[in-house]
Amino acid sequence: MSSKDWLEKDFYAVLGVSKSASADEIKKAYRKLARELHPDHNPDDKKAEARFKDVSEAYGVLSDERKRKEYDEMRSLFGSGAFRRNARAGAGGTPFDINDLFGGAPTGTGQAGSGGRFGGGGFSDLFSSIFTGDRAGRRAARGRDVEAEVTLAFADAVRGTTMPLTLRTPGVCDTCHGSGAAAGSQPRPCPTCHGSGLVTSNQGSFSFSEPCRDCQGVGTIVDEKCPDCRGTGGITKTRTLNVRIPAGVTDGQRIRLSGRGEPGDRGGSPGDLYVVIRVKADDLFGRNGDDLTLTVPVTFAEAVFGTDLRVPTMDGAVTVRVPPGTPGGRILRVRGKGVVRRNGTTGDLLVTVDVHVPTSVSEQARKALQEFADATPPAPRERIDAAARRVVGGNRQ
Ligand SMILES: [Zn+2]
Ligand SMILES: [Zn+2]
Repeated sequence: MSSKDWLEKDFYAVLGVSKSASADEIKKAYRKLARELHPDHNPDDKKAEARFKDVSEAYGVLSDERKRKEYDEMRSLFGSGAFRRNARAGAGGTPFDINDLFGGAPTGTGQAGSGGRFGGGGFSDLFSSIFTGDRAGRRAARGRDVEAEVTLAFADAVRGTTMPLTLRTPGVCDTCHGSGAAAGSQPRPCPTCHGSGLVTSNQGSFSFSEPCRDCQGVGTIVDEKCPDCRGTGGITKTRTLNVRIPAGVTDGQRIRLSGRGEPGDRGGSPGDLYVVIRVKADDLFGRNGDDLTLTVPVTFAEAVFGTDLRVPTMDGAVTVRVPPGTPGGRILRVRGKGVVRRNGTTGDLLVTVDVHVPTSVSEQARKALQEFADATPPAPRERIDAAARRVVGGNRQ
């Protein structure tokens, strides 16, 4: 980890503590997060894994008095003096270069433009992340956003529905209050990491911290495990919400349910719930935006003579008039039998006429069809035939 990396990260915000937090507060905040994000509770959860790493990294710096001081100094230096220096630069002052500050090699991506000189995400990006981070660190922590997927029957997606949605979130075990120890026993400090939860190795002037393998970052070892959480101190809490899915949702759509995510900490507002919609295919109907589609086979005779078709819709059957001489592939529109839109209007049902060609015919049908063929003029292919004759060097096949 380099100095510049330190600047881009708000370790206080990562742990959800204030800049003036005591060592004890930092330790508590870290332990709580380490339990919540414990790999055992979040199998195959890449987000939790990434956060677990961030939290460990933040704790690695803030739990070490010397490193924390260094970090605070660096951020205050960069946040005040350096900023003023740069602001003057436009008015004829010395241009500011981030590399002056740390004496490091240039890290620029080589791209020109406003941030080109500073490399990485650019100067303004660095600042905005530090400033928003500081604000986030001081205020109560907003609950995390949650994403859940629901699979709907085709008709439910068209009409809308209300369904229970069970969400699993990691939380502290109520039996042992997070200690992971069985009643009457106490967790003891991990001898490997001396209770810090982190193993640190030094490389030059920088050090790298990673979660201790023996205690999995928690800092304590539990000999007699709490039976309810199997010693991890955390359990997966489930809560069930009734979620109203509006009519007309489509496959892959994300619906935001404001305030239905995880509850906030210390009076913070809850996060949002994002519901990702999956819609099962239907045997009969398809969707084309707000229109429903349906393909209905007709015989050649029905296409020629015309017919009335009884077809299903999402609410009851309707009669669709197929006029005499309807070609295959024609789409007949049944108004108002499609998907309900947000403004209350409704799409249409589009019925595609599919002229069915039998693959085998009875002797009687064959005779009748031959008679029909003899009595019918050829198909209107004159222009096609003429064009085919004009083609030079065409294959005679
Ligand atoms: Zn427990
Ligand atoms: Zn340990």
